[in-house]
Amino acid sequence: MSIEVVIAGGGWAGCAAAYGAVLQGAKVTLLEKTDMLLGTGLVGGIMRNNGRYTATEEMIALGGGEIFRIIDENIRHKNVEFPGHEHASLYDVGKISGVIYRFLKKIGTKIEFQARMSKVQMDGKRILNVQTDDGRKFGGEMFIDATGSAGPMNNCRKFGNGCAMCILRCPSFGGRISLTGEAGIPEIQGKRANGKLGAMSGSCKLFKESLSGEIIDQLEEKGVAVIPLPEDLRENHLSEKACQQYALDDFTENIILLDTGHAKLMTSYFPIDKLRRIPGFEDARYEDPYAGGKGNSIRYMAMSPRDNSLKVEGAENLYCAGEKAGLLVGHTEAIVTGILAGYNSVREASGLETLILPESLAVGDMIAFVKKEMGTEEGIERKYTFSGSVYFKRMKDRGLYLMDINKIKKKVEMVGLKGVFSNRVVHDL
Ligand SMILES: Cc1cc2nc3c(=O)[nH]c(=O)nc-3n(C[C@H](O)[C@H](O)[C@H](O)COP(=O)(O)OP(=O)(O)OC[C@H]3O[C@@H](n4cnc5c(N)ncnc54)[C@H](O)[C@@H]3O)c2cc1C
Repeated sequence: MSIEVVIAGGGWAGCAAAYGAVLQGAKVTLLEKTDMLLGTGLVGGIMRNNGRYTATEEMIALGGGEIFRIIDENIRHKNVEFPGHEHASLYDVGKISGVIYRFLKKIGTKIEFQARMSKVQMDGKRILNVQTDDGRKFGGEMFIDATGSAGPMNNCRKFGNGCAMCILRCPSFGGRISLTGEAGIPEIQGKRANGKLGAMSGSCKLFKESLSGEIIDQLEEKGVAVIPLPEDLRENHLSEKACQQYALDDFTENIILLDTGHAKLMTSYFPIDKLRRIPGFEDARYEDPYAGGKGNSIRYMAMSPRDNSLKVEGAENLYCAGEKAGLLVGHTEAIVTGILAGYNSVREASGLETLILPESLAVGDMIAFVKKEMGTEEGIERKYTFSGSVYFKRMKDRGLYLMDINKIKKKVEMVGLKGVFSNRVVHDL
């Protein structure tokens, strides 16, 4: 009999957790409230920029590289440069969800769509099962909270500019409900630099075909278009943004577009009447969020207290990953923590020691640093990503930012963790 792991939330973190647990021989059920995998990853796309390159290569050397390899195979552009960011890859947001779905099915993951976890049955501090809106129960030895931190609608209303009709589609599928919260564990709330709770998502998607032929050509050829904005059309939402790695003046002084299939507009929101005054944008319209002229989703409202193995404090058999695991921004960050949470959940259920990644690797340092920072007043107002802002600076200061793949492999070998995620030490019981 295998260990059974139930994961709530099928964003990048939940998908990676499924992969990490399956690699260790677990039987995995992934519950996703909507009808597609990848959550906010359905409208993201930027990979390998700045320190994310190092983190990706570390994960490959650690034996958790398959998801990154699949993403690399589904990119539209490689080595894209835009203000403050180098060697970015842009995946195709139109295709990636289907590709990951087929991969997870192939490795044996049971995926349930329109399965919003809304109740948790506990025995003391132990989770026995979770229940979905329609009354189905899913039991297992281990549970992983990967429900993200975006929404629900009342948070977007209260702390943002209202529901902006984002990809998570709360009106159709119900708002986010967290497993940690339902298990009765108090969650942690992030803040913006201006003191407000949560943070607003930092990019919108424009329907590419609604832009001028010249902009489309530039995007398709280079992956990026930087269009200077006259002063009277500038919108400054930098302090509101979740992704502080893009909170640079260049992102206010220019329209920065990236080609992820849609034209990814690197700002939280931009009034459409103003946007249409820019040459080439006369017919522009939003694809995500649909009300991108007005606002965007609010995130980081509910994170799980956890240790550095990603075990949630306050429950006996609960792990967390992605945005649930802290003020972490990004797909890479969600995948890294997802794989570790999946791996450790099976190790613990099998009576084996769990893994804390060493701080000599960027992936280990980041997990430990975020936990520490979130305990401080300033730290709770920041966001952490390998790709910029405070954490990328720390990576550089500590010599953790490496671009040489052989050096990264050597480092992983030196700490004795080569291939650790794919070495299956847990066998059927
Ligand atoms: C507009 C936007 C653009 C972005 N662009 C980029 C980018 O280009 N590059 C980058 O690296 N990062 C980007 N990010 C950030 C990145 O997408 C996230 O930090 C990361 O993907 C979070 O993954 P996650 O799995 O933790 O959470 P989410 O992506 O939020 O996934 C959580 C999943 O859980 C589901 N869920 C919630 N509650 C329940 C429940 N009760 N039961 C079942 N399912 C539930 C949700 O439907 C969702 O699918 C972007 C974010 C946004 C919002």
